[in-house]
Amino acid sequence: MTQPRTLRCPICRKQVALHSPEAPFCSDRCRTIDLGKWASGDYRITSPIFDPGLLEDIEHSQQQHPTKEQNRK
Ligand SMILES: [Zn+2]
Repeated sequence: MTQPRTLRCPICRKQVALHSPEAPFCSDRCRTIDLGKWASGDYRITSPIFDPGLLEDIEHSQQQHPTKEQNRK
């Protein structure tokens, strides 16, 4: 398995270096915005979004239900 080398800022989705001092945010500004969301109680999850490939894998695993309509004659 290959680990992603970059994160995506959960605020603006810009790519962030994994070892950035601001990670998972791209900047101190986005970190502040994130804190603001927590403070307003309007945030469910703060986990960073990894490579889009991971999201595609999740979508594929949800699409493995063959449609019975296609087998009908
Ligand atoms: Zn950002």
